[in-house]
Amino acid sequence: MLPPFRIGHGFDIHRLVEGRACVLGGVTIPHSHGLDGHSDADCLTHALADALLGSMALPDIGHAFPPSEPKWKGMDSQEILRHAAHEVRSRGYDIANVDISIIAEAPKIAPHISAMRTVLSNTLSIPPDCVGIKATTNEKLGAIGNREGICAHAVCLVYRDDTV
Ligand code: MG
Repeated sequence: MLPPFRIGHGFDIHRLVEGRACVLGGVTIPHSHGLDGHSDADCLTHALADALLGSMALPDIGHAFPPSEPKWKGMDSQEILRHAAHEVRSRGYDIANVDISIIAEAPKIAPHISAMRTVLSNTLSIPPDCVGIKATTNEKLGAIGNREGICAHAVCLVYRDDTV
């Protein structure tokens, strides 16, 4: 029998480079640097998508959206997240809540958290108060602290949709 609840965890990191938009949680944040990657490189959304896939014990987003595939170049990561949510719901589960920690020395994340929660709740079709986002710095330690990149951790709880 399928368990009534499952959890998932995801992590992602992308390098900060010049000449790219800084997209986090589906929101473009004004900054001198942006995240480098094949898609829009939204590491917050990638970590969250991996958490959802992980809750179903599915492989990470690189399997469904391989970086070697030209058609995914520059893609909106909300599309990846929508795919991950569909994978959960097509297996008889729904999303209870998600929680994300983003670690960045710069830019300042806090002013954009409300907009990110709105975007992610729309993509996942869950209420904004079921989307937690917290931001912290790395206290100037290591590569993240040196502004070389931004990383994010995400967890989710899903429940069997025949239990409610
Ligand atoms: Mg990524």
